[in-house]
Amino acid sequence: MEKVEVIVVGAGLAGLSTAMVLAKAGIEVMVVERGDYPGAKNVTGGRLYLGPVGKYLPDWWDDAPFERQVVKERLSMLAPESAITVELSSERFKDTPHPSYTVLRSTFDRWFADQVTEQGAFIIPGYQVDDLVIEDDCVKGIVAAGDTIHADVVVAADGVLSFLAEKAGLREKRSPKDYALGVKEIVELPAEAIQERFGLGENEGAAQLFFGSLTEGMLGGGFLYTNRASLSLGMVVGIHDLEEKDPPRSPHDLLEAFKSRPEIEPLIAGGESVEYSAHVLPEGGYDALPERLVTDGMLLVGDAAGFALNMGVTVRGMDFAIASGVLAGETIRIARAQRDFSAETLAGYERELKSSFVWQDIETFRHMPTFLSNPRLFEDFPSAVSDLFQGVMAVGTEPKERFMKTVFQSVRQNFLSMDVIKDLFGMRKL
Ligand SMILES: Cc1cc2nc3c(=O)[nH]c(=O)nc-3n(C[C@H](O)[C@H](O)[C@H](O)COP(=O)(O)OP(=O)(O)OC[C@H]3O[C@@H](n4cnc5c(N)ncnc54)[C@H](O)[C@@H]3O)c2cc1C
Repeated sequence: MEKVEVIVVGAGLAGLSTAMVLAKAGIEVMVVERGDYPGAKNVTGGRLYLGPVGKYLPDWWDDAPFERQVVKERLSMLAPESAITVELSSERFKDTPHPSYTVLRSTFDRWFADQVTEQGAFIIPGYQVDDLVIEDDCVKGIVAAGDTIHADVVVAADGVLSFLAEKAGLREKRSPKDYALGVKEIVELPAEAIQERFGLGENEGAAQLFFGSLTEGMLGGGFLYTNRASLSLGMVVGIHDLEEKDPPRSPHDLLEAFKSRPEIEPLIAGGESVEYSAHVLPEGGYDALPERLVTDGMLLVGDAAGFALNMGVTVRGMDFAIASGVLAGETIRIARAQRDFSAETLAGYERELKSSFVWQDIETFRHMPTFLSNPRLFEDFPSAVSDLFQGVMAVGTEPKERFMKTVFQSVRQNFLSMDVIKDLFGMRKL
């Protein structure tokens, strides 16, 4: 094979979404994936927000192999020896279409790839792209396993460390501050045990996020999602903070310590750990996005463009990957009709993307990375809030103070400092 119309590099959600749009339009599209199958190398925490993406691939989600529909949200703040958990369960989470589902990528991406193949795209797994063909500053194809294949357009859907984006001059090497490392375990448990432990019905699921002492002062947090018959349990830690940590801490050891916490141990008790994975994720937010998303003959989609958003209470990237993939596919369809694959024509993708929820949400929360990189959020704050609650709720040997006196004392002691006032002032930008 010497030439195809479009080559998509990476069979993650971004690449598959692009390929879906193109194949449906009858355009010749080849997806190349270095993993043994789509989903083999893809790691996510586990929750896909369907609300924003429903309209991007309409009439398509009914048969998707989702794990559980999230009907229960928990947020836990962990101090070294105590924890506060807020739980939100609402009948509204049971409305259709359901706002979010837990997913396992090895199952979900394989199913997605089958749908894309059915539409006429061909997917080549086990095939790693090593270089781009660039002629007169225009991307003209790929080099993989010694083969050179030309294309009218190459879509860089090769994930967070996209070497294609760098090679094409769309992105510089970024700083460790722009990335976090995620580690995750899948713990198998019978469906009934999951439902009983989390108080769920048959297809219902829970999503729980954690922050505080589990990251030992470093940026990051933990997550736990219920699948049909397993739990996805993991942690995300800022790479810059990991590099600076003295004495060093490995993410694996942090995860082991997290698993042995009393809030987690009973939830995974008796379960069998069947998979362990680690993956980098974009953490830089809006300020780390590349200036251009297109060049002559190439576009960036999904994580390759840095489309991810950690807000502490939600982690998103999969919905951005799907939407950006669809918008890229639609732009390529228009460019093909004009027989013009220059950056000027492909810039239609940038315009569409900037008026979509992808760009707007990342821009709205552009101050999140700075806010979340404050170590006080992970160390001092959880302990202070936990002390306040304990003061109010505990009954000790001495007579109890009036309720408001306990609160004022705790607030004066823990919250009325210049640092906290500065933190609160910083929150106005969120
Ligand atoms: C621990 C963790 C938790 C997360 N939790 C959530 C969550 O709960 N919800 C959410 O929405 N998002 C979450 N995310 C983010 C989300 O997973 C990503 O944003 C999303 O998967 C990006 O999809 P993508 O298709 O752009 O990239 P990827 O899924 O990374 O796909 C890139 C593909 O390109 C392939 N590839 C790379 N280089 C080459 C090459 N040279 N040749 C051929 N193939 C190549 C890779 O093998 C891979 O299959 C999480 C991420 C992590 C790491």
